[in-house]
Amino acid sequence: MKLVYIGLGSNMGDRELLLRHALEKLEEPDIHLLRTSSLYETEPIGLQEQAWFLNLVAEFETTLFPRQLLHRAQRVERELGRKRSVVNGPRTLDIDILLYGQTVMESDELTIPHPRYAERRFVLAPLAELDPKLRDPLTGRTVTEMLNALQGQAVQRRGRL
Ligand code: AMP
Repeated sequence: MKLVYIGLGSNMGDRELLLRHALEKLEEPDIHLLRTSSLYETEPIGLQEQAWFLNLVAEFETTLFPRQLLHRAQRVERELGRKRSVVNGPRTLDIDILLYGQTVMESDELTIPHPRYAERRFVLAPLAELDPKLRDPLTGRTVTEMLNALQGQAVQRRGRL
């Protein structure tokens, strides 16, 4: 059984409903939702001309291997995350595997810890809310230390899902 942290975000449509459905769809007998962070309203990074995101981080326990977990997440993204009428249409849902126990791995398909999570307040803020002492297996730094090292990026904590 591994403890895993998964980041979810949406910036289109009924964002709360999408996040709720995504959490429900991720759950199966081999992956069980333990806790979710608050919701965070967050400024888009990169392409600025788009709506703000709603993000949260969820803690699961699972017997799935990392690649199986990625494929499960990608299935849920496909089911909920695309406007099917438009080829390559806007993504309404993003699911990232942030941490998988203390596992470190890198393949073409999957990098754990997530390659960009250390720079993202919208990930580190909800992670630190769930477990401020959680450590990055690569650097040994806690998520709180990583969060305090960041500058900029507006995030507003909102209610719970
Ligand atoms: P994105 O467009 O940000 O959703 O990136 C999706 C791609 O990132 C997929 O093709 C995944 O294979 C790859 N990927 C690599 N590492 C991870 C990770 N830790 N969690 C989710 N996707 C990942």
